[in-house]
Amino acid sequence: MTRSAGSAAPGAGAAGRFDAIVIGAGIVGAACARRLAESGMKVLVLEREPAPATHSTGRSAAGIRVQFSEAVNVLLSAASLAEYRDMPEASYCPVGYLFFVPPEQWPAHLHGYELQRALGMPVEKLTGEQAARIVPARVDDIAGATWCPTDGILDPHGITMAFLAQAKRLGATLKLNAPVEAIVGAGSAAAPRWQVLTPAGEFEAPVLVNCAGAWAGQVGALAGLRVPVGPARRIVFATGPRPQEAVYPLTVDAGTGFWFRSEGPRIIFGLSNPEDTGFEEGIDWPWLETVYPIAVDRFPWFETLDLDRKASWWGYYEVTPDHQPLVGPMPGAPGWFNACGFSGHGVQQAAAIGRVVAAQVRGDTPFVDVSSLAIERFSGSGAPAKRESLIV
Ligand SMILES: Cc1cc2nc3c(=O)[nH]c(=O)nc-3n(C[C@H](O)[C@H](O)[C@H](O)COP(=O)(O)OP(=O)(O)OC[C@H]3O[C@@H](n4cnc5c(N)ncnc54)[C@H](O)[C@@H]3O)c2cc1C
Repeated sequence: MTRSAGSAAPGAGAAGRFDAIVIGAGIVGAACARRLAESGMKVLVLEREPAPATHSTGRSAAGIRVQFSEAVNVLLSAASLAEYRDMPEASYCPVGYLFFVPPEQWPAHLHGYELQRALGMPVEKLTGEQAARIVPARVDDIAGATWCPTDGILDPHGITMAFLAQAKRLGATLKLNAPVEAIVGAGSAAAPRWQVLTPAGEFEAPVLVNCAGAWAGQVGALAGLRVPVGPARRIVFATGPRPQEAVYPLTVDAGTGFWFRSEGPRIIFGLSNPEDTGFEEGIDWPWLETVYPIAVDRFPWFETLDLDRKASWWGYYEVTPDHQPLVGPMPGAPGWFNACGFSGHGVQQAAAIGRVVAAQVRGDTPFVDVSSLAIERFSGSGAPAKRESLIV
């Protein structure tokens, strides 16, 4: 553990004691805070920035889908979708997700489709030609497509603010401009105590939930813990406003990973650059030279679109080595829980994760089996996670 608790900041003491401290006020921290508060815990949320949802959450493509190859991801998204549907602030819009799949990926993709159907998801299998009637595309080298009309888009900012408001109504405290600078593990295994230092004060709780997104690894390191989560920059390019002849679903060319969808009168699009790891900031404009030919190859009408540089943006995926989330207690650090590393799926899984983490903290069995997302998979002491193949 990194520092002694000697230099207590103003505001420390009895007023700084909570049942649980949540680090990070993105959508995941907000969801966890809300469910922990609902469990009757006195919760503190610490956020470095002057406002919630300013990092990955506020920069996402806002998609939600049940089309995953791993059951745990299907179930987390489906349970979250059930919650978001009933939440006006989520502005759920079922525009659908459409995957165009090449022959070499088709058998594995079909396996995922069958799993999704077996779990009750309304996913449909299409021919390339049928899919091209939904979104015009070149399909001469496409083996098939899948379409789920209830997949769609959300308002991640609205959801975060709603979760935080609910948490506050249940007694939680949100501190903004409160970067966590040091963490000390005190107490014992039976009675853990996490002391957390910020410029806004020093706080302590028996439970700490690491929801620091791309910085979750750094937050772990403050306590001497190895939390394998880091940043991977992603760029969202936007066209200018155009005549709205269609609302395009979130469309994925599975062979390349290129995706796009309608965003009001614009189209937004992107393609992950696997080399783009680390805390690089800003839009990588040269990356467009790779993205554009790939886009035009599958969707030739992209050639007619213009780019709006000012409407484009960037943000970090918070990635783990196997691109699966990291959810659950930290071995050897009693009271420490991770809810991070969602690797591009955190918006759509957050609502369910809030319930899962609250159950884990209470010592209850979560309603979705997330044992495959435990950190032990990286230490060799747990079963290795099966790789999710539908990463966008
Ligand atoms: C371009 C892009 C597209 C995406 N598209 C989708 C999508 O379509 N669907 C989907 O589900 N997901 C998508 N994602 C991923 C999704 O945005 C994330 O998985 C999700 O927002 C993670 O939420 P979070 O709360 O864990 O992280 P964040 O929103 O990043 O929140 C973490 C918070 O922790 C705070 N913090 C960090 N360090 C400290 C500290 N030391 N002290 C205090 N606070 C700290 C940060 O300031 C931040 O506010 C996308 C992401 C990007 C970048």
